[in-house]
Amino acid sequence: MLNIILFGPPGAGKGTQAEFLQKKYDLVHLSTGDIFRYNIKNDTPLGIKAKAFMDQGKLVPDELTIALLESEVKKHPAAKGFIFDGFPRTAAQAEALDAFLQSRGQSIKAMLALEVPEDELKARLKERAKTSGRVDDADPAVIQNRIDVYRNETEPVKSHYQAKNKFTGIDGVGSISEITERLFNAVDNI
Ligand code: AMP
Repeated sequence: MLNIILFGPPGAGKGTQAEFLQKKYDLVHLSTGDIFRYNIKNDTPLGIKAKAFMDQGKLVPDELTIALLESEVKKHPAAKGFIFDGFPRTAAQAEALDAFLQSRGQSIKAMLALEVPEDELKARLKERAKTSGRVDDADPAVIQNRIDVYRNETEPVKSHYQAKNKFTGIDGVGSISEITERLFNAVDNI
């Protein structure tokens, strides 16, 4: 199975690029952010809990997020592999993901990390706010909070996969198609 983590800060282009990877390699794309937003839209108990954290740019607690991710994976028994987009975001999530996949006889093949400078991230999120309808894109203070949370809590997850020789950094600056090409090359070299 081709299980890939698409990693990177908010605004790095994970969602956009995950769509291309999904099509090319016939994978299931799981974005925890998209699943939370779907639950918020449908006013589910999970959505109501997650919204308070998301609106402030904070992480949804691990317990909720890990349970959600596992139940989503189980919905796709015939998958050829998964692209995990926006998960794991904490060390505890990375450990839980490894243990969960191992219990199913699977593993993460690679973490591909889109690298984009902070100024460019902020410019992209400001632009995205015009069309995304996302509360967390609209407020510069919330954007800053998301970037800080990424630096403090999420970026350290890289070392978990670096230690396993599964980490590849990808230059996330350029045209969408240039970045897609870099990702395809990385996947083909796994
Ligand atoms: P994203 O769509 O990946 O930018 O995620 C939007 C928001 O959803 C984040 O700012 C968090 O509040 C929440 N979220 C998404 N994925 C996770 C995760 N793996 N752990 C905790 N919170 C998450």
